[in-house]
Amino acid sequence: MHTFGTARHASARALGSHAVVIVMAPKASETDIAGVVSHIEAHGGQAFVSRGVMRTIVGVVGSEEVLETLDADGLPGVAETMRITAPYKLVSAQNHARRTTVRVGGVPIGPETFTLIAGPCAVESASQTLEAARMAKRAGATLLRGGAYKPRTSPYAFQGLGLTGLRILAEVREEVQLPIVTEVTDVGEVDVVAELADMLQVGARNMQNFALLKKLARTRKPILLKRGPSATVKEWLSAAEYLLHGGNENVVLCERGIKTFDNSLRNTLDLAGVALVKEMTHLPIIVDPSHATGKRSIIPACARAALAVGADGVIVEVHPEPEKAWSDGAQSLTFENFAELMNGLRVPMKSVTSTVPALVM
Ligand code: PEP
Ligand code: MN
Repeated sequence: MHTFGTARHASARALGSHAVVIVMAPKASETDIAGVVSHIEAHGGQAFVSRGVMRTIVGVVGSEEVLETLDADGLPGVAETMRITAPYKLVSAQNHARRTTVRVGGVPIGPETFTLIAGPCAVESASQTLEAARMAKRAGATLLRGGAYKPRTSPYAFQGLGLTGLRILAEVREEVQLPIVTEVTDVGEVDVVAELADMLQVGARNMQNFALLKKLARTRKPILLKRGPSATVKEWLSAAEYLLHGGNENVVLCERGIKTFDNSLRNTLDLAGVALVKEMTHLPIIVDPSHATGKRSIIPACARAALAVGADGVIVEVHPEPEKAWSDGAQSLTFENFAELMNGLRVPMKSVTSTVPALVM
């Protein structure tokens, strides 16, 4: 056991910056405090006891593993425990001097560029995929998306062409020369998708499929990690931490809308979350205005907003005939819509009208 003091601070630093504070109840006994200290030490952590007039607090310093297994909440005399360092040190911006750029088949996603990823929601046939890919490329996309394995809410909905779809995507890649991004829904699909695709998407519904994340970490392939529909930013970053912890640093985050009380749109696009994530991590982050809104007409506006808020790119769904799409037709862009989106991104933002003279700093 240690008491707080200058000499002790040096050893606390040596153990790293991971810390928890345990606040003892005002009526906690000396036996309770000693019990907490031996619990911490038995888990391999270092305890620092600080006695106030009313309360005693016990600081804990240790490795990430020590803090995650500590579980001190139920110990006698403990009022509350507070984690004061984030449990995602590898994705955190704190330990990274520069933002990360992830390369997908040579195409960068990161701070220097605004990357456009476009393609159909699902691969339906070779001709539909090729046509959508040509549309995407002609309008300026540098990566092609398309789902072969589809996670669908209803078991009766089109589930994707699977391996056939994957092979179509690989052929279309050769034809149009765009690297491909496609979803992997299950651990059993990882090897074949990793072999044929350039970037593997973890869909929103799978964000916390930890077995899948662990397996994807071992592939070292670029991963597009979508935010779960009900996931907090912290849960999302912890999911990304699984990938980095497993050895894969090629991770791009994707905000695709979350569930809120408002059901006017398919989801609620959390743009403030995008700005926040840019502060919290060094990883690139892109926005999916298609799934966030479900509404074709407002997708160009949301793409402009994504650019304004600091996103590193957008991923959108396009289809040669949206009204005939097998999935997500209402949010799929035609070539004209996509060209409008691209033009909007090139036009400078409106200038601010103000009667206040410019500030001289
Ligand atoms: C998709 O990209 O086609 C998809 C299913 O997205 P999400 O996981 O965000 O719903
Ligand atoms: Mn879709």
